Amino acid sequence: MLEVTNLNAGYGHVQILRDVSFKVDDGEVIAILGSNGAGKTTTVRSITGMIKPMSGSIKFDGVELCGKSSRAILDAGIIQVPEGRQLFTEMTVYENLELGAFSDEAMRKFDESLHTCYKYFPKLLERAHQSAGTLSGGEQQMVAVARALIGLPKLLILDEPSLGLAPNIVDEILVVAHDLAKKQGIGVILVEQDVTKALKTADEGYVIENGQVVLSGSSISLSVNEHVKKAYLGI
Ligand code: ATP
Repeated sequence: MLEVTNLNAGYGHVQILRDVSFKVDDGEVIAILGSNGAGKTTTVRSITGMIKPMSGSIKFDGVELCGKSSRAILDAGIIQVPEGRQLFTEMTVYENLELGAFSDEAMRKFDESLHTCYKYFPKLLERAHQSAGTLSGGEQQMVAVARALIGLPKLLILDEPSLGLAPNIVDEILVVAHDLAKKQGIGVILVEQDVTKALKTADEGYVIENGQVVLSGSSISLSVNEHVKKAYLGI
């Protein structure tokens, strides 16, 4: 599905990512792990076309994405749930979800997708006509994930979904992410600082330090890796 090979990227002349490579298959959840400033967001920005890579390749279903616009990448089916959610807080939950239907196909399937979102997050049905800004942080994160689903993603990118949320809400959102991958075949990239939760959800993980992938492997192997345990799990 997605294959990132020797990605080099940064800001202006400052290079942040060095030869980053990873892949995501259909129905697979991968975690991109790393501490503050490691380069996780820069990796996501490269995939979504927000920054132009210096070199390397990002192929999605065999098609090169490097150099394509964010809109073209979105149209290809790569949808990000941004860090900080970025909802329209004055608009209702329903109106925010409507905005997720940016393509003709998504508009056609809106009712069906909405039904799926309400099944995953029943709270959103209760709150459908309430302005998004009045929801709790966890509920807002659910709206952000649901809005992405309305867009019919093939690849869903969750950027720091745990940020500022209670652990049980994070678990609820990660269970949905896992379910989407396993039942609907969506590829999921989970960018997380909460390494324990990320490794519980993901099939594979990639640890980024100073812009480089320093470790990768199955979540099980990473969770018993001595470096991961010491540096990220505090054990
Ligand atoms: P966090 O978990 O804190 O979001 P991160 O792993 O996502 O961290 P990035 O946001 O990718 O890290 O940042 C990697 C490096 O790139 C940092 O040193 C950061 O200061 C730098 N950086 C990020 N955005 C910009 C920008 N717009 N212009 C210049 N440098 C930037």
